[in-house]
Amino acid sequence: MKTKLLWIQGLACNGNAHSFLNYPQMAQFLEDFTFVHHPIIDSPFTLEEIVSDYHPTDILLIEGAIAEGFTRGGEEIISVIKRYAPYVKKIVTIGSCATFGGVFKNSPYPDGGGFLFHEEQKRERFASYADKVVSISGCPIHPDLLATTLYMLKEQIDPPLDAFHRPKEFFAYTVHNGCTRNEYFEYKVDNHRFGEKEGCMFYDHGCQAPFTHGSCNKILWNEVNSKTRAGQPCMGCTEPHFPRQNLFVTKKNMGIPQYLPFDVPKRAYLTLSGVTKAFKISRLEKRLFDV
Ligand code: SF4
Ligand code: SF4
Repeated sequence: MKTKLLWIQGLACNGNAHSFLNYPQMAQFLEDFTFVHHPIIDSPFTLEEIVSDYHPTDILLIEGAIAEGFTRGGEEIISVIKRYAPYVKKIVTIGSCATFGGVFKNSPYPDGGGFLFHEEQKRERFASYADKVVSISGCPIHPDLLATTLYMLKEQIDPPLDAFHRPKEFFAYTVHNGCTRNEYFEYKVDNHRFGEKEGCMFYDHGCQAPFTHGSCNKILWNEVNSKTRAGQPCMGCTEPHFPRQNLFVTKKNMGIPQYLPFDVPKRAYLTLSGVTKAFKISRLEKRLFDV
């Protein structure tokens, strides 16, 4: 039997709804799931019908930040959630806005934030539903992560979750894991220009991958690439404090990056970088190939 999904949006830019359209096995997905309502994909009920009456649903999907006073289809989004949340089996927050507030933390709505969290702080409003919640953060979400999570929930598999309700299967790693530039990171060889294949972007270009949870270099985007492989720094879009300022610059104090890889003490970082700096690996200083 098809699992019924209802996709609703708080304060959102539609980015996650669009990203999900890139799921490579969408035809099969629509054989296994049906959308009671989706903002883009054809579905049987309009937004107005969804907000004015209850329609049986298995999993409630929430995209976008939640704020008092924000309406969809003429109804407060908070009331819409309250209409469905008690009856669905699971609630999935989709994207960093629905999970932590994301870019809408600074919207004109003073209490705009995530479903369960405002950045790292717990919010009370929907705390009674916390046991049902699985969160897929990201700006936007990786479509495979959402689809795989929904398949797990369909099969009644409860994935192990981290402190922010994100499946550990995807978020126990850092985005740095699997980057093709790891050797440059280890030997402290900087990247010089965005888009180049050589060098690591941690030292100058603000790459946040060593302190960002995610699988972008393990489960590739469009099955072929990732931001850092392509030569763009990771902006930390899955984390509670996203978006930080000065995304393309590494802020330093006395030459030491302000943010170090998770759990690496400053002393360990200084010792290791002192050792690697003492060596010059000529292979890593050269272009990989001329274009
Ligand atoms: S570019 Fe970013 S992800 Fe890649 S090795 Fe450097 S710090 Fe890690
Ligand atoms: S590489 Fe970083 S910024 Fe890009 S999608 Fe992954 S976590 Fe987000």
